[in-house]
Amino acid sequence: MAIKKRCSGCKRALARSKFPKDKSKPDGLNTLCFECKKDVNKSPEQRMSDKMHKGKARAKRGGATKVHFNAGLWMRLRREQLNCLHCGVLFSKEIPPTLDHIVPLNRGGQHTRANIQLLCHSCNASKQDKLEEEL
Ligand SMILES: [Zn+2]
Ligand SMILES: [Zn+2]
Repeated sequence: MAIKKRCSGCKRALARSKFPKDKSKPDGLNTLCFECKKDVNKSPEQRMSDKMHKGKARAKRGGATKVHFNAGLWMRLRREQLNCLHCGVLFSKEIPPTLDHIVPLNRGGQHTRANIQLLCHSCNASKQDKLEEEL
């Protein structure tokens, strides 16, 4: 029994495991390999829409590194960041951290981990003031 079998579609010699089973064929395997079989089964329209679908999915995933901010990330941020990034004050019950968007949302910043830092209330407030002055 030959170990390799030539695909009638792509003409490659492939391992028998690369061919779908077909009892009607003398060797019990389809003449097309899995890859070619898949393509044959699809109409050109289907293939086209498949491509478009994949393209869309990729576009959606474009910012894969952007993790949406949620409670879990908040907890992690609290553990990572013990001090105000601005004045360095240690967060405590008296000085609770406040969430600050590095790029403000109204300037196209996003509510994601990469755009969030912890500031003490007074720094956050003064930053806000500055931004309002700027605007
Ligand atoms: Zn093939
Ligand atoms: Zn501060």
